[in-house]
Amino acid sequence: MSPRQPLDSTVLGDLESIRGAGLWRELREIESAQKSRVLLRGREVLLFCSNNYLGLADHPEVIEAAATALSRYGASAASSRLISGSMTVHRALEEQIADWKGVEAALVFGSGYLANVGVIGALLGRDDVVISDELNHASIVDACRLSRARVVVFRHNDVDQLAGMLAATVGARRVLVVTESVFSMDGDVAPLREIVDVARRFGAWTMVDEAHASGVFGKSGAGLVSELGLTRDVDIHVGTLGKALGSSGAYVAGSRALVDLVVNRARSFIYSTGLPPASAAAAMAAIEICQREPERAEGLRRRVTGLSERLRAAGLRVSVAQSQILPVLTSRGDAATGDDADRAVRASQQLLDRGIYVAAIRPPTVPAGTSRLRLSVMATHTDEDIDRLVAGVIEVMTQTGDKRAQAARSRP
Ligand code: PMP
Repeated sequence: MSPRQPLDSTVLGDLESIRGAGLWRELREIESAQKSRVLLRGREVLLFCSNNYLGLADHPEVIEAAATALSRYGASAASSRLISGSMTVHRALEEQIADWKGVEAALVFGSGYLANVGVIGALLGRDDVVISDELNHASIVDACRLSRARVVVFRHNDVDQLAGMLAATVGARRVLVVTESVFSMDGDVAPLREIVDVARRFGAWTMVDEAHASGVFGKSGAGLVSELGLTRDVDIHVGTLGKALGSSGAYVAGSRALVDLVVNRARSFIYSTGLPPASAAAAMAAIEICQREPERAEGLRRRVTGLSERLRAAGLRVSVAQSQILPVLTSRGDAATGDDADRAVRASQQLLDRGIYVAAIRPPTVPAGTSRLRLSVMATHTDEDIDRLVAGVIEVMTQTGDKRAQAARSRP
């Protein structure tokens, strides 16, 4: 039997291989509120990688609502919801979300990760099949694995392949198709109408994670499912409170029966402390703002379209904007070498040197060979902020070796 190594020497070896692969991650501390400009190590930088899309995390009404709830209910739910941690503010938020989404009921969780793990685990088991888009978020991937259902993965947004996989599920007890509506790292949108149609044809259920669409898409920010008129066709609606809504936590919404089952079965709901009351109140205020001020989301979407056009004109690998998330790929078809990850890190560092904070996104968050800068725009960025971003990104991408950007720059 080979002798086992002590923990630290094993861990140091693991860390070395992470570093060697260009995948080292470390925490950067923000010393101010999450605004379009933040304080990072004593220096003000422009923030272009936050999910505070509508600028609500520091909105005075949201802060005020959280502060009032903090004084009234205290800092914590102090128990799981099924013990003594269910408070009136939770029920008020759940009713508001159900109304906003146009469904019967909603249930809030401590985070989106917990919501995905909870709802899929509550519905599926060994005799079932879950069919998941290959670019779905890690929380969905983990939720599928934990459910013990058979997991089948379809190529990103490929409805024909999905149909073939559905056809092969005959005999399975329950079948669930799960997708995001706006994809977190690519910013593109799912062909939801086609997905819902094909799932229905085969008697499968559908679940849509609107983490990046809630607040930004649809009338009053109700999401892309709502914008497409598919509310009644989607069985399980999931979304987060910690992105456009500027708070923290998440919801599962749908029929009353679904929510009752989740309350009774979802382990990440049952065995976890309830959402802090201040977060619930903050989310309520944020939803009210979304309903009252649709121009926030509309302006944001217009602005990203302009940004994408400018970066494309400069020859960068950027697709036509479909949402507020815009990836700039740093790969040159070098999946095996990992050079794209290095380039993403260098580009991110060079942008930071210019006072612009954009995170480098690398595997395993995205597939190997598709490392990128993930730009996310906020409704509170000014035209001058966007101008600075465009100039900075073009400059650093040229320096980090994007030949197409170099060619575009040298063109008269
Ligand atoms: N779903 C998607 C699509 C996400 O992008 C995220 C977070 N990035 C989550 C779920 C998890 O949400 P939370 O951060 O609230 O755990």
